[in-house]
Amino acid sequence: MAAARAYLDWNATTPLHPAARAAVMAALDCLGNPSSIHAEGRAARALMEQARADVAALVGGEAENVVFTSGATEAANALFRAGVSGCCGKDIAGDLRPMVSAIEHAAVFAAAGPDAAIIPVDDRGIIDADALDAMLAAGAPALVAVQLANNETGVVQDIPALARIVHDNGGALVVDAVQGPGKMPVDIRALGADAIFLSAHKFGGPKGVGAIVFADSRARLARAFIGGGGQERGQRGGTENLPGIAGMGAAARAVRAAREAPEKMIQLRDEFESRLNRLAPDARVVSENAPRLPNTTLFAIPGIPAEKALIAFDLDGVAVSSGSACSSGKVRASHVLAAMGEHDWVKAGAIRVSIGEATEWNELERCLSSLERQLARRSKASAA
Ligand code: PLP
Repeated sequence: MAAARAYLDWNATTPLHPAARAAVMAALDCLGNPSSIHAEGRAARALMEQARADVAALVGGEAENVVFTSGATEAANALFRAGVSGCCGKDIAGDLRPMVSAIEHAAVFAAAGPDAAIIPVDDRGIIDADALDAMLAAGAPALVAVQLANNETGVVQDIPALARIVHDNGGALVVDAVQGPGKMPVDIRALGADAIFLSAHKFGGPKGVGAIVFADSRARLARAFIGGGGQERGQRGGTENLPGIAGMGAAARAVRAAREAPEKMIQLRDEFESRLNRLAPDARVVSENAPRLPNTTLFAIPGIPAEKALIAFDLDGVAVSSGSACSSGKVRASHVLAAMGEHDWVKAGAIRVSIGEATEWNELERCLSSLERQLARRSKASAA
């Protein structure tokens, strides 16, 4: 029997946590509509409200400030397209200027629209706080979106500092915290964000469910992004995805319990990077010296293009990713690496290895063995 594959693409999606699977299955058998007032409806609502409390607890928020969505993409679109009101105790529902960093996920760029101002980053992938300050001071109050951690490089931003700048300039800050849970603590108050958003499948929950969490009970979407029956306190119409929501809640609880996971990931990641450097001293680990998630290594090796490497890894039973997630199955040049001013060979060769709490060293070993074979082929090709 062929050995199991090594799944090293946890930033793209994570395996369903057993507790999340159990919660999804139980919710599938929950008959009621959470909006119904009879016993069946109340049972469904109780499941949903438990999940709401669990998601809030994961990020140090309040259950009443959680709005369930179909994922982070919908959350970002709702925040920008419906607008926010009541942030920081003020009503800033009016026409806030959209402003996003240059390394945001495609969902955030699309949500903010083509007129959004783009905040630059430095060559390590850190958002330029001075540029943000100057951009905010130069115009009307803005709705600013920045990431907690980048899905490609793993670089973690100093959100509290950015939040102070945004608030000093009368704006509101939303944080794409999708890559945080399971890898680093996420506390909405410590971050100083007005709202954060999450996607369940990035931390052991099912796909197609996520949430916006507002920091303040006065804050909300200025209008329903999806109109309907008034669900989610009038902010998101449509009968709720109860199995997804229950699964997200269970995953949130499991992540909170797995406190030692980041420590284990750091050890594996560091050992992987030191073995990588020994195997290929000319390899470049992107943003090596920036604050990074404990689970992400983005690297490139001269003479090994990402497209070729991805296929070679796959044939060797190793699932990794090129820098950018590729919805069409094609590897696109990464806008993140472009914004950081990375070399062309790095953009052409960036491979992302992202691990999770269940990753074992033998999976990384398998990845390194595949890389060793690819390096041998590179040497042969250059000798020919
Ligand atoms: N933001 C970040 C940082 C992500 O990594 C992703 C998914 O790749 C998203 C947003 C979008 O999440 P979803 O596709 O689950 O809506």
